[in-house]
Amino acid sequence: MTTESGSEQAKAPKKSSAPDIGTPRRTKEIIAKHGFSFKKSLGQNFLIDGNILNNIVAAAELDEHKGALEIGPGIGSLTQKLADAAGKVTAVEIDQRLIPILADVLADRPEVSIIHGDVLKLDLKELFQQQFADCAGVSVVANLPYYVTTPILMKLLEERLPLQHIVVMIQKEVAERMAAKPGGKEYGSLSVAVQYYCVPKLVCTVPHTVFIPQPNVDSAVIKLTVRDKPAVDVPDEGYFFRVVQASFAQRRKTLANNLTAFVGKERREELTAMLVRIGIDPIRRGETLSLEEFAVLSRSLYEAGWNS
Ligand code: SAM
Repeated sequence: MTTESGSEQAKAPKKSSAPDIGTPRRTKEIIAKHGFSFKKSLGQNFLIDGNILNNIVAAAELDEHKGALEIGPGIGSLTQKLADAAGKVTAVEIDQRLIPILADVLADRPEVSIIHGDVLKLDLKELFQQQFADCAGVSVVANLPYYVTTPILMKLLEERLPLQHIVVMIQKEVAERMAAKPGGKEYGSLSVAVQYYCVPKLVCTVPHTVFIPQPNVDSAVIKLTVRDKPAVDVPDEGYFFRVVQASFAQRRKTLANNLTAFVGKERREELTAMLVRIGIDPIRRGETLSLEEFAVLSRSLYEAGWNS
């Protein structure tokens, strides 16, 4: 392992004889040996279930030619399994206290590099060039800190990193919102944003008993397969997402009411006529619109030059 500053198979053959880190016993041993104390503020809930770890790694479809970027390796339970499955693993950890622990437990893993840093502040394009230049494909695989799940995922997607899959453990409710279809109460701007860039699939739900310490929310593993190009064609991405946000601004309000606030009261009649013209009933709610309908809507508003 090096440290720096700043196919769906259930199990890959092990490349090292070291015991699994992701068990209750080994995790407690490592924590005791290094006198580690958990920081709730960093979302530190470590996985201690080998089956769940194997399911996460299997969903990422790794092989010896591919790379994995892990965000928040903790004491290395998932990192170790990723090293068995991938040719190159780079893990970014914010907590300086975990760096020597990772160096210790992953000492026999030359394919692993640990970077000390905050993933939200790193230049990920540069990191990809430095770490994964020789890889045939790269996926993000992580048990994410729940307090920053959405900012991390949106950073990965908006920066258009050359990713194949993003397989992450997140809060179950957030996973359901990401995968939601139009028409339900879970469907919102997060669903549209994620599905614009990816095809989501819920892999499994996870009980809170498989973590130390146990989180007080339910968890799920979601697999996001990154699209070669976005799901719909829009003239201006920033504008598209502003229209989506505006459409969900007050969920109980009709589209016409929410969008009037976006384009200005004086344009209400023109707006209503436009909605009718593009085949979207003004009394519908934002939560009923498909991605394609949001694209048509944002294109029409953009061409009219309203709030652009
Ligand atoms: N992967 C380990 C596991 O599954 O047992 C630990 C997962 S724990 C839920 C989240 C990890 O992310 C912690 O190790 C925490 O210190 C780290 N972390 C929190 N915020 C981070 C950030 N902004 N950048 C990088 N790592 C972060």
